[in-house]
Amino acid sequence: MGRGDGYDDAAGALRGLVREAGECLVLDGALGTELEAHGADLQDELWSASCLVSAPHIIRKVHLDYLEAGANIITTASYQATLQGFQSRGLSSEQSETLLRRSVEIAQEARAIFVEGRSKGPYAGRENDGSRERRPVLVAASVGSYGAYLADGSEYTGDYGRSVTKEALKNFHRRRLQVLADAGPDLIAFETIPNKLEAQAYSELLEENDIRIPAWFSFTSKDGANAASGDPITECAAVADSCRRVASVGINCTAPGLIHGLILSIRKVTSKAIVVYPNSGETYVAETKEWVDSAGASGTTDFASCVGKWREAGASVVGGCCRTSPATVGAIARALREADAADVFYRPKPCSLVFSQKS
Ligand SMILES: [Zn+2]
Repeated sequence: MGRGDGYDDAAGALRGLVREAGECLVLDGALGTELEAHGADLQDELWSASCLVSAPHIIRKVHLDYLEAGANIITTASYQATLQGFQSRGLSSEQSETLLRRSVEIAQEARAIFVEGRSKGPYAGRENDGSRERRPVLVAASVGSYGAYLADGSEYTGDYGRSVTKEALKNFHRRRLQVLADAGPDLIAFETIPNKLEAQAYSELLEENDIRIPAWFSFTSKDGANAASGDPITECAAVADSCRRVASVGINCTAPGLIHGLILSIRKVTSKAIVVYPNSGETYVAETKEWVDSAGASGTTDFASCVGKWREAGASVVGGCCRTSPATVGAIARALREADAADVFYRPKPCSLVFSQKS
């Protein structure tokens, strides 16, 4: 897989990887939370991207922690890394592009360490299930939405104002997307998309720039029926479905309790692989840049108890977003392994989340 490998059908390429992984790929969890846990200072508009400059070794360590926990896909620290953001800090365009490329390289380095260690080093024997020994390990280049660059929480409202047109969004993302794609990730993750307009911009950019790396489009939802902007999730998913460069479509940074219904809605408009990586169920308050407790849905055990149900509904890439950890990802991987070990009559246990949506 990758550029120039006779790529024809992005969705088919990802389906092949899903099969290789045992019918479900495990995605990693939160990067920012873990970077802070390892001592990184993220009180910065560039958020986790600031560590590309100050602490690349911590990013590499967090990627490795997720791989060790059972992730098949690690996501680069480029969610909030934009050429415009770096340049506003006084970096040259060349330095900015180098940092974007670094985000992919750091993840590739972590993968190399993990794969090497899996055969003979510290990770050997960590995976008790032999069938997963050859599981795919992939690097997804993260592309945060325009709202993530604004760092004002607008990726959770989808309200960019009237002056932000589709062309403006394309111009904002174009060079960044090309630099990330040229660094050779296995996948491109367009994350936390809050509205249909930005999905259309991405879709056109993938075609215009002839990006041959399978992409996924992941939207956020606050109500279980619409993207953050209020655009129906079915319309958003249909944009992804109609783009042949898009391998997968789904939901991230959304309360776990909303995920099942959203999978069913997306399923109605696409046969592409569905990716879900909810947050811990807490709610982000843009004014204070803090997460506050919402009712229920925050425990690792509860989160993992829903994985079987999500998979049965049609999800084939599952991971965690904000405030999740390697423990969450480990629990997801275990839940899937248990499902694999069971026979074809496997039925997931009842999901134990509290589905109240206090925010
Ligand atoms: Zn998130």
